[in-house]
Amino acid sequence: MIGKAAQLWAAFVFLHFILIMENKPIARTLRLLSQLMELHEGNPFKIKSMANAAFKVDKLPFRAAGKTFEELEKIDGVGKSTAAKITELLNTGTIAELEELLAKTPAGVVEMMGIKGIGPKKVAIIWRELGIENTGELFYACNENRLVEAKGFGLKTQEDIRKAIEFRMASNGKFLYAQVLPEANELIEQIKSIFPQGLVDFAGDFRRCCEIIDKLIIVVGSRDQEIAFNTLQHSEIIHNIRTEGNHITGEFKNGLQVDIVCIEKRHFYAELFTQTGDGAHVQAVLSRTAETTDQPEDEELIYTKAGLAFIKPELREGTIFIERAASNALPQLIAYPDLKGALHNHSTWSDGINTVEEMSLYCRDELKLEYLGMCDHSKSAFYAKGLSIERVLQQQEEIDHLNKKLNGFRIFKGIESDILYDGSLDYPDEILKRFDFIVASVHSILKMDEEKATTRLIKAIENPYTTILGHPTGRLLLSRNGYPINYKKVIDACAANHVVIEINANPFRLDLDWRWHQYALEKGVWLSINPDAHRKEGFLDMHYGILAARKGGLYKERCLNALTLQEIMDFFGRKKSGH
Ligand SMILES: [Zn+2]
Ligand SMILES: [Zn+2]
Repeated sequence: MIGKAAQLWAAFVFLHFILIMENKPIARTLRLLSQLMELHEGNPFKIKSMANAAFKVDKLPFRAAGKTFEELEKIDGVGKSTAAKITELLNTGTIAELEELLAKTPAGVVEMMGIKGIGPKKVAIIWRELGIENTGELFYACNENRLVEAKGFGLKTQEDIRKAIEFRMASNGKFLYAQVLPEANELIEQIKSIFPQGLVDFAGDFRRCCEIIDKLIIVVGSRDQEIAFNTLQHSEIIHNIRTEGNHITGEFKNGLQVDIVCIEKRHFYAELFTQTGDGAHVQAVLSRTAETTDQPEDEELIYTKAGLAFIKPELREGTIFIERAASNALPQLIAYPDLKGALHNHSTWSDGINTVEEMSLYCRDELKLEYLGMCDHSKSAFYAKGLSIERVLQQQEEIDHLNKKLNGFRIFKGIESDILYDGSLDYPDEILKRFDFIVASVHSILKMDEEKATTRLIKAIENPYTTILGHPTGRLLLSRNGYPINYKKVIDACAANHVVIEINANPFRLDLDWRWHQYALEKGVWLSINPDAHRKEGFLDMHYGILAARKGGLYKERCLNALTLQEIMDFFGRKKSGH
């Protein structure tokens, strides 16, 4: 019986397959085959005829699926060998040659060929020469200016690719905080100008400074709710405006969902509170009050009524900070002006685009910082022009020279040392000890199980030369998951070895994740907000780092780069002498 049912099912699936097999999927398969042949440097003549056949099949005025081999062969631009491939595809659902090529191509590389503006030739360079294996890594590489180095790519191509990927990323409706920020600010200014007397503020995950935003919520309080609603509904401030109850929804050009809540002015703060915290947080606060006020004159009052100190929007995640608000022991959150320097940065010595001197002057004169930590890539990072021992020594000489010139401003000699597969660092001890500080990061062989990754990191943390653990999971938000780590073990090891953990401030990373900041702080671990700047403007990412750090509840007393120049010199000195 089972055999019979399975046969029937197979027959059904097959028939169904034939029926839905219009020309488009056939053409798409042939095109993929030609692209893969090109990627793997196949016979140029065959590649061309396959690509041509794909084009022809796509434009056929009849269904190819119903045709015999002989009929297919006669189609202009198809020919014998392609007709055989089509027949094979129609009979078996695939093509053996295609399967073979797919088997030796990482899935992410295949995906990259679908990005507008890069054909197989460029993908081959990206994959083989730059070691990039998926769209997420490619996007990151564009942002780090790494494509410009490769042959056949210029600044313009890099920018086109970056935009094409950004467009694709938008299709899943989620955005990085940094991608939302400029338009969000523009929109709220527009709304404020429409209602100069009204109360207008962000709410939702954007107000909570979440690293990923899937909806922008704005609350508008006005004296006449109906007028406000009608005005906004007929405005053109967002696309595809729809209405639902007192909500006006629509989207940004890039596809981000926008939700504007119109409310009478006297209910504004109650609504703002409800729309800001996540569900668990709002519930936890409200459950502490017997009588709710639906017309509070500010948000503070809602917390006061609940017997809590005011909890800032970024901390309104679940119940983490409720207890501490109840005992009036909330952290004094770190703020941007608390930062005194920027550690972990790249220059033209490796893959950065500004010189050490340009980076220093920017920090000193524009950002008014006291020090800069240079951490170019170490020798194993060949794709990023990692420094040989000889070049390390040359760079250190340059830094000595600049330090004499810079009049009180200090450049620290650091390195971003690759953590090798076995957890060791990338230079012998006699070189490692020449640095003022060392950021140890994983950049290669990212596919590891949790145990391997954790052991690898801990080995690096236990190295006496490691000062800071760089981007602990290697994640690229919305693009690439990090390797899995046992956070507690890694953080415990940092505590035991007095290793600082980086909050990589790049909006794609924000790694260490804010959800682990409290655990790290409880264990006595210091955190450092590192821009990982590859150009002058990259230092500004520290603003995003600050937001993530505040979300994690970080205060300045435990932030490494909030130390003054003298303090951090002492800190590095103590670490180097083993405390
Ligand atoms: Zn790195
Ligand atoms: Zn770096």
